[in-house]
Amino acid sequence: MVYHFDHLSSVGGRIFEEERRRVVRSLIAEGYLRTQAVVDAMLRVPREEFVLPEYRRFSYYDTPLPIGCGQTISAPHMVAIMTEKLEPRPGQRVLEVGTGSGYQAAILAEVVGPRGHVWTIERIPQLAEYALNNLRRTKYLDRVTVVVGDGSEGYPPAAPYDRVIVTAAAPDIPKPLVDQLEDGGRLVIPVGSRWIQVLKVVVKEGGRVRVERDIPCVFVPLVGKYGFKEVENRDRDIW
Ligand code: SAH
Repeated sequence: MVYHFDHLSSVGGRIFEEERRRVVRSLIAEGYLRTQAVVDAMLRVPREEFVLPEYRRFSYYDTPLPIGCGQTISAPHMVAIMTEKLEPRPGQRVLEVGTGSGYQAAILAEVVGPRGHVWTIERIPQLAEYALNNLRRTKYLDRVTVVVGDGSEGYPPAAPYDRVIVTAAAPDIPKPLVDQLEDGGRLVIPVGSRWIQVLKVVVKEGGRVRVERDIPCVFVPLVGKYGFKEVENRDRDIW
């Protein structure tokens, strides 16, 4: 059975909104979404504005999608899990390493609100440009600053941060990211090999650093000084 969607694109906005509510409801039922602020953020941010046109119909499938340059926008459940583990609060200063599409940055912008700010750093200039356009269209640029650079070294100009989230896989926890964390701050980061990682939560309290292990996960590699070495371009056309 083949289902056709493309002929409905003129009413796409309404259909996407229904699909967004459906995926949020199932993420709540699955236990991934736990707090009202994160639920509200996922209900407000239109994921369809952060995916490539050829994958738009899959915007609310709970799966990662290619965004070009061999990179991906994370699956909704992974965005839900990481945002909940990060415990962001209104008014906070957040650093995201790995801007990609800008979707996770928009979710964080919703949670920190008008008094908070999100700095997001991306190493591939074309993706930073892509994210910038997505965030401009969806009107998040007043709360989000997109930076091009090696985020494995953090982003010293705006440090310290209340929260740091890394959405690419690191071989170890980069020391600069811990150094740039405010006391009482949290860092969420996938750590492991290039192919499989464990989500780690780093908590800084009274100058002491505690590391908690969470679930196994799969992310594209963090490439940089405190990440993996340059990888081959794996951006094959899979579509
Ligand atoms: N959070 C993104 C998904 C990120 S995919 C979203 O919501 O769409 C991981 C991204 O990290 C990729 O775009 C990749 O280019 C980027 N990246 C990898 N190493 C990096 C580094 N050292 N500094 C900044 N970005 C990096």
